[in-house]
Order: sequence, then C-alpha cells, then structure tokens
Amino acid sequence: MDVISTRRDFHRYPEVGFTEFRTASKVVELLDSFGYQVIYGPDALEGNARQGVPSEEVLEKSFNRALEDGANPEIIEKMKGGYTAVIGIIKGKEDGPTVAFRFDMDALPVRESTDSDHFPQMEGFRSKYEGYMHACAHDGHTAIGLGLAEKLSDRQFAGTVKLIFQPAEEGVRGAYSIVKKGMLDDVNYLFCQHLGTNVPLGEFHGGSLGFLATTKMVAHFYGISSHAGASPEEGRNALLGAATALLNIHAIPRFSSGSTRINVGVLEGGTAANIIPEYAKMVIETRSVSEETNEELLRRVKNILSHSAAMYELQHKVEIVGKAIPINCSQDLIELAMAEAKQTEGFTSVKPYEESGSTGSEDASFMIKRVQENGGQGTYMIIGTDIPAPHHHPKFDIQEEVLLRSVELLNRIARKLLK
Ligand SMILES: [Zn+2]
Ligand SMILES: [Zn+2]
Repeated sequence: MDVISTRRDFHRYPEVGFTEFRTASKVVELLDSFGYQVIYGPDALEGNARQGVPSEEVLEKSFNRALEDGANPEIIEKMKGGYTAVIGIIKGKEDGPTVAFRFDMDALPVRESTDSDHFPQMEGFRSKYEGYMHACAHDGHTAIGLGLAEKLSDRQFAGTVKLIFQPAEEGVRGAYSIVKKGMLDDVNYLFCQHLGTNVPLGEFHGGSLGFLATTKMVAHFYGISSHAGASPEEGRNALLGAATALLNIHAIPRFSSGSTRINVGVLEGGTAANIIPEYAKMVIETRSVSEETNEELLRRVKNILSHSAAMYELQHKVEIVGKAIPINCSQDLIELAMAEAKQTEGFTSVKPYEESGSTGSEDASFMIKRVQENGGQGTYMIIGTDIPAPHHHPKFDIQEEVLLRSVELLNRIARKLLK
C-alpha cells in the first residue's frame, strides 16, 4: 500500500463528520486485506451517543455520492445513517497488552483553493467535492493509520493492536460514541496524534498540554409570527429573546479558577420586515481549562437561555452538539514516544510538549480518560510538518514526507510495548 497515494485519494474525496462512507469503506477493505478483524457500523459506535449528526437528507446524499465514487455497497450498507467508525484488531503471535492508536477521518466544510501554487491543485488531487476539503490533515492521519496497519500485519509481536478510525472529530462529536460502545475498555495503552499544529517538519512532541474542555450547543427559540403593523402585540418575537440571550451570555464573568472562552458564533432568525420573527437559532460554545468550570459555564448559559425565552414568552430548546474534556497525558508514554522518535529517521527535534500549550479542544480526550480510568495510559502526540497556511484554511496542506516517517514512528512505538 502506498501511503502518499492513499492520502491523495482521501484528499480528493473529503467527507465531513458522520458522512465518511467512502473513506470508511476503503479503511474496512484495506484492514480486511491485511488480515485484521474489522468492527464497523453500529458495532463500533453507540448511535445515541453521537452528537451533531447531520440531517437524514445530508446523510443520504453523502451515502449515494460515496456509492458513485467507489465505496463498497455491502460495507456501507452497515454504515447507513452515519455509523462511520471502523476498528481494526490484530493479535500477535504471543499474548501481551493491548495497544491502540486513534486516527480521525473527517474533512471540513471549507472550499479548497484553486491557486496554482496550492500543492493539491498543482498535483491534480484537489477536492472533488466543491465546498469541502481536508484542511486539518485527517486525510494524512487516516493514511498513516493504514500504513501502520500494513506494517503490523506481520503479527511479529506479543499482544493485541487496535486501530480506531474515528468519524466526526471536527466539532468534537464522534469519539464519545466509540467510548460508549466499550471499544476502549480493553485498551492498556492509547496513542492519539495530530500532524502540524504549527510544529515544523522534523519536530515531534510526545504529549500535549492545555487542551480545553468544551461544549457546543444549538439553541432554538420558538415564538409566534404576527403582522408587524396591524397586530404586533399578538406576536412573540423569537429574535428578541435570542438577542437578549446573546448579550447576556457574553456578559458571563471570567473565572478565577482558570481561563475560559465563550462565543455565540451564529444568530439567525426572522423572515421579513413586516413579520414578527417566530423562530431564531443560536450556535454557542463554551471552553475552559477545567471540566468543572466548563460545566458551570454551561449551567449559566442554559439559565440565560431559559430566562431570555421566558421574558418574551417563547418556547425554547437546547441541543448539545459537541463536547470534549481536557487531556492529561501519561508521563511514561510521553517518554516512551520521545525515545522512539529519537531513533526514527527524520526527527531532529524531540520535546515532551509545547510549554505554551494548546488552546484547542479534542474529543480524543474521552478515549484517553476511559483508558486512564481503567488503569491504562494515554497520550496525545504532535508530529510536525510545515504548513503553507493555518489549519482550516483553503490553502492548508502538509509535507507528504511526514507520512512515511510517522508510520515508522508509530510502528516502533507499538512494537516497543508489545515485546
Ligand atoms: Zn481541525
Ligand atoms: Zn484536526
């Protein structure tokens, strides 16, 4: 299997969270061809524990598109409705611990650049799906996972390898459903990793600091429409309720217990100048370094939403569409990963983590926590690559030489623990 052409193939067909039908289908086929036991569809994730699942219409459209683009019909039939997780399991020649790796597969709703200096455009593997793009390197992550799968298919080790291909990392929506299904319960060591994140090619971090707890939610306000000239008092203005909530959510104080973020990212509603708006929608996120503080932010946001709705005699509903917690990387694994990186060709700068920390969020946090709760260990590693533009930007790209050396590094890490 060629890791670079596999990455380019995934890049051409970017699929957003819970619509990774084609990608997951290819993953199942390859794992199967390498001799892995493959678990996928409703066997690999808990349907009700998914968050922010796209509408039936979007799921069906993506499903049909995947079929046209070469997904295996028999395989994706089992994934219908957005069950796009895949787990590959292979046992070594002798008994030993279970080592797992997690790879995210989803793309983003970003329109990819057509500039002639954008490498995927230049090389002819720019996104085929207009308005969607692999702008966070998850195409590379999935390709690395498959490269690793092939290496470990020789079964020359003692223990079990579990490769977890996760849907819907963006928006922190997919990992929890895999945890809920029990897929992490037998894992002794878990490695998660990300390419890029402003770390240059040749540099490697065995762990990460500072991932934030976060909650993403959609609030719906339901009022009554009425003629704005003839009978405004008969209406109930949903947009006013939402606007009141917006200002008060941003007025929640900072916390002395640790840094926080809050953002109302979307506010929309209403239909015309002469109609009292009967519906409004807001998309909100909270973040904090501490899980407890994030819960308190969430409580206050919900309080504001319900009282703002009450002021204008509106009905309202809050939908949680994404969630993550902080990550505490296991020190032993950070050191083990660093030691292996130092012996892997291509890594010239090896660090435990970036002191300044991350300000993002990751739902691999739920997987790491589950493993640690059971007495196991987990870490979130960063593998450097120079990037011509930031993550989630139309000109985002990776340096493909990072792919093979990442496979090599993960292969070394797995075998070190499976001796
Ligand atoms: Zn991203
Ligand atoms: Zn990412």
